[in-house]
Formats: sequence, C-alpha cells, structure tokens
Amino acid sequence: MWLMVKPGLANLKPYVPEESLSGLKKRLGLKKIVRLSANENAYGTSPKVKQALLDWQFEDANRYPDAEASRLRTIISEQFGISQDRLVFGNGLDEIIELLSRTLLVPGDTVIQAGPTFSEYGLHALVESATVVEVPVDETGTTDLAGFLAAVTPTTKLIWLCNPNNPTGTYLAPQQIEAFLQEVPKTVMVVVDEAYIDFVTRDPDPSVLSLTTRYENLVVLRTFSKAYGLANFRVGYAVVPEALASVLQTVRLPYNLSSFAEIAASAAFADQAFVDQTTAQVAVEREKWLTFLAEMKLEYDESQANFVYFRVPDAQALSDRLMRQGYLIRTGLQPEWLRISIGQPQENQTVRTITKNFL
Ligand code: PMP
Repeated sequence: MWLMVKPGLANLKPYVPEESLSGLKKRLGLKKIVRLSANENAYGTSPKVKQALLDWQFEDANRYPDAEASRLRTIISEQFGISQDRLVFGNGLDEIIELLSRTLLVPGDTVIQAGPTFSEYGLHALVESATVVEVPVDETGTTDLAGFLAAVTPTTKLIWLCNPNNPTGTYLAPQQIEAFLQEVPKTVMVVVDEAYIDFVTRDPDPSVLSLTTRYENLVVLRTFSKAYGLANFRVGYAVVPEALASVLQTVRLPYNLSSFAEIAASAAFADQAFVDQTTAQVAVEREKWLTFLAEMKLEYDESQANFVYFRVPDAQALSDRLMRQGYLIRTGLQPEWLRISIGQPQENQTVRTITKNFL
C-alpha cells in the first residue's frame, strides 16, 4: 500500500508529536516532568475558562457543535473590527496550515519560508507536491525579507512568514512587513503566522492584522495555544481575504471546533487580564534568560516569544542531562542549537543552573 502514497511521502521521517506528560513520566520513571519543549503557557489557563466549561449544557453532548463557531466569531470580529466573513477557525493552527496548503497549492508550485522555521509549513507543501525554498535567517536569526523577495519566481504561490519566528524568536515590525508586501507580486499569498505575537514587548502594536483590509494577498494566523493557555483545546484562526474565506469554509472539515473548544476560547479571549499578566511574566523571565546567555557568552537570538534559542556545542548531551532531571527541551532544529520554552521562575532558574554547570 505504501507505494501508492504521493511521491516523497513514503520517505518522510515519522512525525513525533509531543508525548503525553503522564506517558513520559512512566517511561522515564520520573515523579515530575516539566515540559519546556512545546512553547505552551507555563502559567496555566484563565480560571474563567474552567467556570465557563462547568456551565456548559451537557445535554447538548449528542448534538453537533455550531459549525460556524458563531459565538467566538462574533467576539473576535468585534474586538479586532474584522468582518465575520473573513474569519476561518481551525482545530489549532495546525489545521489552518494544512487547509491553506491543501486549498492553494498544486504540484509544481513553490513555497518560500525561513530556515529554520515552523516545520508544518514545509510538511504540507511536500504533501501537496510543491517545492519548498528555504531562505536562511540572517546572522541575528531574523527572517531575511530581502532574501524572500529575491527567491520569488513565477512558480511562487505561498510565502510563510512566522512572526515572531519559531524557533529563533526573532521579530519583524509591521512596517517591515508592509514594505515587503508592497514588493511581493499579488499572485503570491503571504501568510503571517502570529502564534507568538502576544509575547512581543518591543512594539505596542506588533500585529499586521490591520493590514488585512488593504492587502488582498495577506493572511494572518492566530492561536489560543500560546498566550491564551489553551493548547489542549485546539483552537486557531485565520484572518483572510473574503473571497478566500468562502473557499476555505467549504473545504474545511464541517465541525472542526467542538462546543467545548469554542466556549473555552471565548472565555479565554474575554479574560485579557490573564493574558496581560502571563505575557508580562514571560517577558520578565525571558529577559533573565537572555541576560544569562549573554553572561555565559553563548550565541543566541533576541527572542520576542515565549522561548529562547541558543547554541551549545554539545546540545544533545545538555538536553539528555536536563531530561534526566525532568526538564524537556527541544533539540534537532539546527545542529548545536537548543530551544527552551519560558517556564515558571523556579523552573527557569533550575534549567539555567544545570546549563551553567554543564558548560
Ligand atoms: N504556528 C507556529 C509558529 C507554532 O509554533 C505552532 C505550535 N507550536 C503552531 C502554529 C500550531 O499551533 P496550534 O496548532 O496549537 O494552534
């Protein structure tokens, strides 16, 4: 059977999603595991989400959820002043990334993305038999927009712009992205993935959401998995040009958001105080990390996200040592580089101490 899959897919390295924490604890024989490998919100979830879920009418469990996610659609549309017709919801941004690839790409198309960046973009390009052109980040770890423009050819269909970029954490200001949009041919869709935008402190208004009414080839992605602390509920959304929205709405799975997910996201969105508090805490902890990395004279990127990215000659050995002590971090993105999510203050301190002793 495997011979019948699309070219290139049979040789893919299997996707290894993050193991459940309880499964990991059992496997590693540890009492406690702190996961700092998936950029989740280490500060939990708004307590208002729990209450909203408890108030849910369980009698509706046998009924399909609202296929339009109208409640969530309304509050996001009102908050950002975006027409409801331009919002598309997904089972996490993972689904939206797949949906955009599935809807836009045909074999032979080219996709431009940074190297390194979030792996799902490239995976879905491959699934659609498109070609990925990876433009290396510059020496500061920042996405090279001039390099992106130079890479555009008549076959280019899609550009993925992850801002802040995962895994480097580096950030591009809206003005830089707008200048870029002015140069990109209108036949190329530019998708700005703002999964980590709430953690940016460098700019008071770091998002390009407001540009979506002016650029017909701009899509902006947001998720509830990071600052909103709802990774388990799988809610992400895209702000897209209206004509594309109606196609995406037709192509997507009909009931991709459960009522539970919609209620949780609606309650989390309403509690901006929780988001402000946790993102402020993350910024303080991120600063401590960056100061530490500078003091240790390690090479690192200036993160504006909820993780730090740095270089250690024997990265795997450090990761193994941390794992034995119950701290999971991310390796394997680039040789010798590690990505560590910002945890709670004590967790961060312990990881820094283990790192210092390792060096
Ligand atoms: N985009 C980026 C840049 C990410 O890092 C992630 C998750 N790690 C996602 C999208 C997917 O997020 P989710 O499916 O949880 O919304």
